[in-house]
Amino acid sequence: MSGRALRLVILGRQGSGKGTQCLRLVEHYGTLHVSTGDMLRAAVADGSELGKKAEAIMNAGGLVSDEIMNGIVAERLAKPDIKKRGVLLDGFPRTVVQAEALERILGKGGIDAAINLDVPVSVVTERMLARGRADDTAEAIARRLSLYDEQTAPLIDWFDERGVLVTVDGLGSEDQVFARLRAAIDTRQ
Ligand code: ADP
Repeated sequence: MSGRALRLVILGRQGSGKGTQCLRLVEHYGTLHVSTGDMLRAAVADGSELGKKAEAIMNAGGLVSDEIMNGIVAERLAKPDIKKRGVLLDGFPRTVVQAEALERILGKGGIDAAINLDVPVSVVTERMLARGRADDTAEAIARRLSLYDEQTAPLIDWFDERGVLVTVDGLGSEDQVFARLRAAIDTRQ
């Protein structure tokens, strides 16, 4: 027990069920959900300066610069509600540079657990194909997933080296996965 509010990072491939589990986790633990994807989409919808910069990058499937992302997240984490209620970070960090910025913001030992919600590529591919979305061709899915793995593998190692990585099996029912996540988090608190 650290005595302060819970701080978590969650990593998971597209189609891993991360979105659903995040909603359940924040309800259960009472932490705030900080999703950088949601923050960027809100900025695009507002037409803010940030939104204008982010829109083209997001549409092209690229990553918004570390400098911009680190600034947005530092500002959000500085608000008093985070200290009081804790946080589930979703979508950040996405690069090692961002992970290092997070360590500067929260301090060493500032994250209780980095959860890797693990669902094999073959399974998420099937799930995404089953959604039948126009942008979900087998080729586009394969490209997005391999890009995710390339970007995320160094982060997984980075958290592992700091002793906070927890891999949770994401196969099974929503309830089963949620129970596993709770068990993993409760042992880290
Ligand atoms: P996805 O998991 O499909 O990439 P997100 O909702 O997490 O969805 O993010 C949507 C887009 O927002 C990303 O494709 C990327 O362009 C941008 N984005 C979100 N978080 C970050 C981040 N931490 N660093 C850089 N770009 C980000």
